[in-house]
Amino acid sequence: VYDLAHIQSLVRAIPDFPHKGIVFQDIFPIFQDPVAIESLTLHLLTRIKETLGEETNKVDVVVGLDARGFLFGPALAIHLGAAFVPVRKQGKLPGACTTASYSKEYGTDVLEVQEGAIRPGQRVIIIDDLIATGGTAAAAGELVRKSKGTIAMYLFVIELLFLKGRDKLEGGSVESLLHYE
Ligand code: 5GP
Repeated sequence: VYDLAHIQSLVRAIPDFPHKGIVFQDIFPIFQDPVAIESLTLHLLTRIKETLGEETNKVDVVVGLDARGFLFGPALAIHLGAAFVPVRKQGKLPGACTTASYSKEYGTDVLEVQEGAIRPGQRVIIIDDLIATGGTAAAAGELVRKSKGTIAMYLFVIELLFLKGRDKLEGGSVESLLHYE
């Protein structure tokens, strides 16, 4: 199992993507190495167990955020014996959906979850690869609340600390493994 410092060394900073002035943290090099994928999954699980303790067994749903949250959510759901539920940008999910909008640098974006995918009273972990401004995760949290679920925690592989995105998140603990100042 690789330690977190080694996993962080695999993350690649790409300047000026997707816009000039943005340094994009690319996690895909981690996926070049199966030991790195497995190690990262185990570190995420360890953090869940450290944060939730006995309540870990009571997690019902792992919600993954479009699109890189889908890389981690199902693996965690298997280990936790929980369901996996995708939250996607508007128009991607079939059937009746619940929606939440959030403001971005340019205009607003809408996220959706399928109606009935999260049932009233279910305990939910929200997972994504990275938290920047926190807008995406905050909208996902709103979808969980609109579905009458309870947020056990928000979990991220990477947190961009200088953007203070965690301040936008309500209703559950906020945890991340790798930090950038
Ligand atoms: P936020 O809503 O917190 O500003 O942005 C977070 C969302 O944008 C996440 O879904 C994340 O995947 C994506 N994102 C923003 N910046 C980066 C980045 O530097 N690297 C990666 N991998 N994803 C990013």
